[in-house]
Amino acid sequence: MEMISLRFLLFYLCFKDVLTLSGNFWHVTDLHWDPSYKLGDDPQLVCASGGGAAADNAGQFGSYVCDSPWHLINSTVFAMKDILPDPDFIIWTGDDTPHVPNEDLGERAVLDIIGNLTEIIMQVFPDTKVYSALGNHDYHPKNQLPAGQSFLYEEIAKLWQKWLDSESATTFKKGGYYTEELVSRKGFRMLVLNTNLYYDQNKQTTNMEDPADQLSWADQVLSQAAIHGEKVFIIGHVPPGFFEKKRNKPWFTQKFNTLYLDLIKKHHSVVMGQFFGHHHTDSFRMFYDSEGAPINTMFLSPGVTPWKTTLPGVKDGANNPGIRIFEYDTQTLLVKDVLTYYLNLTHANAAGGRWEKEYRLTESFRVADASPASMHQALERIATDNCYLQKFYEFNSVSYDLTTCDKNCRVDQVCAAREVDFARYEHCLIKEGSATLHGGLLLSLLSVALSLLLAYW
Ligand SMILES: [Zn+2]
Ligand SMILES: [Zn+2]
Repeated sequence: MEMISLRFLLFYLCFKDVLTLSGNFWHVTDLHWDPSYKLGDDPQLVCASGGGAAADNAGQFGSYVCDSPWHLINSTVFAMKDILPDPDFIIWTGDDTPHVPNEDLGERAVLDIIGNLTEIIMQVFPDTKVYSALGNHDYHPKNQLPAGQSFLYEEIAKLWQKWLDSESATTFKKGGYYTEELVSRKGFRMLVLNTNLYYDQNKQTTNMEDPADQLSWADQVLSQAAIHGEKVFIIGHVPPGFFEKKRNKPWFTQKFNTLYLDLIKKHHSVVMGQFFGHHHTDSFRMFYDSEGAPINTMFLSPGVTPWKTTLPGVKDGANNPGIRIFEYDTQTLLVKDVLTYYLNLTHANAAGGRWEKEYRLTESFRVADASPASMHQALERIATDNCYLQKFYEFNSVSYDLTTCDKNCRVDQVCAAREVDFARYEHCLIKEGSATLHGGLLLSLLSVALSLLLAYW
């Protein structure tokens, strides 16, 4: 008997991590359903979201110039169910409607689209808690999310009633944000932000100090969390910082970018992870303290829509549809690993949809976990080693763009991930730009020296 207890104790000590501490959740974002998607003879008429571009290789699962057909949405949600049917919870960070002019949508159309996506997620995951954040496309007119009550906030709160407690519904109706205990467990909290209020395309909020009082509310929630010893995850749609596929392209206005950074710096000890979308690409953002120590990470998950962005200056900005699982320590909320699954759209259209694992963070970047210290280590590898940079670059478009990441691309990728602050990002561009130059210069000097040496040999 004693022997059995001893064995059990040893077993428990060896596997207690696996048995009790590991949890996981899904992150799905930027579904952008295009209800107009229809295969036919004219490639220019496949989808309204193509903006007149020819969808030459369009198939059942979609096209790189279009937003998602329903078939892709359906395939995505059922792939999630197949791969991980019982996650602790799901985070869904917005952008449900297609990239079409405002005139082609309306409040009713936006609501219908959000309603249909909500319904399929609820049907496939009836017993799973979903934390849902609004995207800049989840409003009419797009991007113009107001800093106060509105018809759409009211109606969306009704659609998400099952996922919101009564206090959440109240703050959501006021400004599209809410907080709850994370899956109703004491000591753990989810903070759902409406960062569309800080988007530079949002004309409703530009001149406000604190739209919908969200910042002061978040400051209070995080201060209380520290007092109560809680650990917090933050989710939202539009991220602070810069787009890695276009130099000098921020999303927030500078004022709100600084205020958001200040919020994270002040409360970093309780914030265990930030999970955002909007880019449709796979990347992350580091947050450092004034001594340069890594204090927080924002994970930017790839989108489901493969839509090639029409943002001027981005060349070939499409992606394969991606979804991801985060593994975390249920006692501390430390993010332990990130698994990205994807659908190769070309293969899917040719031979049927097969969602595959794209990569596991700790394996691909040889880090211990996804803590800020490990993510910093991964970023330094990416910044200094071409093999890691190339891998990171291919994952960035979910294995769609497999071209070489050149000097400029390296600077764009590294500085966007490293610096969220406007001035520091600018400084990074100069520093990393000249670092490449110096490296190149050094190499040419060495080769000249070597050829001289060989000439006189
Ligand atoms: Zn989007
Ligand atoms: Zn967006």
